[in-house]
Amino acid sequence: MLSTLCLAAFLTSIDPAADFASRFTGRTLRFDYHHVGTAGEQHIAQAGLRLEGDWPGSRTQLVDPESLGAYRFRVLDAKSGELIFARAFSSIYGEWKTTGEAKRRWRALEESQRFPEPKAPVILALDERGDDGVLHEIWRDEIDPNSRFVDRAPLVERGEVLALAERGPAATKVDLLVVADGYTAAQRAELLADAQRLTGALFATEPFKRRANDFNVRVLHVPSTSSGISNPRKGEFKASELGLSFNAFDSDRYVLTFADRALRELVARVPYDALILLANERKYGGGGIYNLWATCSADTEPAEYVFVHEFGHSFAGLADEYYSSQVAYEDLTKPGVEPWEPNVTALLDPAKLKWRDLVTTGTPLPTPWDQKQYDDVDLAYQARRKQAIDAQATEETNERLMREIKELTKPLLAAEPHFGKIGAFEGAMYLAKGLYRPSVDCIMFTRNPTTFCKVCERALEHTIDRYVK
Ligand SMILES: [Zn+2]
Repeated sequence: MLSTLCLAAFLTSIDPAADFASRFTGRTLRFDYHHVGTAGEQHIAQAGLRLEGDWPGSRTQLVDPESLGAYRFRVLDAKSGELIFARAFSSIYGEWKTTGEAKRRWRALEESQRFPEPKAPVILALDERGDDGVLHEIWRDEIDPNSRFVDRAPLVERGEVLALAERGPAATKVDLLVVADGYTAAQRAELLADAQRLTGALFATEPFKRRANDFNVRVLHVPSTSSGISNPRKGEFKASELGLSFNAFDSDRYVLTFADRALRELVARVPYDALILLANERKYGGGGIYNLWATCSADTEPAEYVFVHEFGHSFAGLADEYYSSQVAYEDLTKPGVEPWEPNVTALLDPAKLKWRDLVTTGTPLPTPWDQKQYDDVDLAYQARRKQAIDAQATEETNERLMREIKELTKPLLAAEPHFGKIGAFEGAMYLAKGLYRPSVDCIMFTRNPTTFCKVCERALEHTIDRYVK
């Protein structure tokens, strides 16, 4: 008992700021590597260590306590073994290995981890969430930050940084950086208008609205030589600056870049905690991977919704609450395992539901809703949408379809007896059965609402908290 008390007293006496200064230089170190493998085998191949600018993240909350995500990166003091930094994340590799292609061939995907530059040698470690839902170490190595193997070359100073909101020091704000892709030098004003409109939509949505003062918002414009991004299904290939492209994993609307290293070099000179890659595109699309980045097409009717929805994925690890849309993932969720995502549950034990404290009093678990009626309407729409995609229909046609489904499903969901309440509604994260979402509707479920459900809202707010102290 005495030793526990002494330890508690010792822990409370630590000054986190002094602790940071004793361990870290104040700058950012980036660890670049290739995640190589198949569905069944994987390797981490190191690519290098790169010194970036000042550490933009929190100096007092260095170990992520929540451990969401499919992976976790850890930094341990080499001498004592003490954990001095940890950050959860998901990755393109993690998604790709669940696709059919990963059963047939190898791929090497670029990944990076950024952390405060340590003063002394450290051990870097990567953990992966297993089929049991638990994180297991897959790789570790020791590095010496003072060695000649750290690239300390001056940072690349390309493009122009446009400040939309400067509200305080990077260390106590969420630094949101919008990175333009497919905007030419002549399209600077268009970029500025797009970025203002879309970040405006984000900060009109709770919890971002009430927490706007916790954000710095900047735009990086490195002009592309031509307008727009690649669209392989139409045979259109562009040499855009970030290499964004539609049709990631052969999914028409999924926008990713596989040139993460080049992206990291471009943005290294700007303080950032979160990235949104903005495509100068009329074609509907986007994507968002936890603690990697989000992508969004700027010039579509639902662009504001996409921007907010995809940022929900990348910033707080929110899952898609929908289940009927076409995706490439074949075995994302293992039966009987609770998903790590904060807004989806397998409801293995309703008494231990992770959002139990937010459940509306008197709401049954699972919460009944007319899934059959919704599915009949939605599946007919999904079939028409697939036809339109296969036929390379115009954006106007696609947008008309999206308006139609909204007009049909919005009143349907609003008429549900438990609409607006928090419970556990069956159908979530690409599965019609066995996974549950917190609310009958949410920005992570349909394009209908302009608000996150209370469970998503809380997860987003917790994430903001981790950057501002
Ligand atoms: Zn939600």
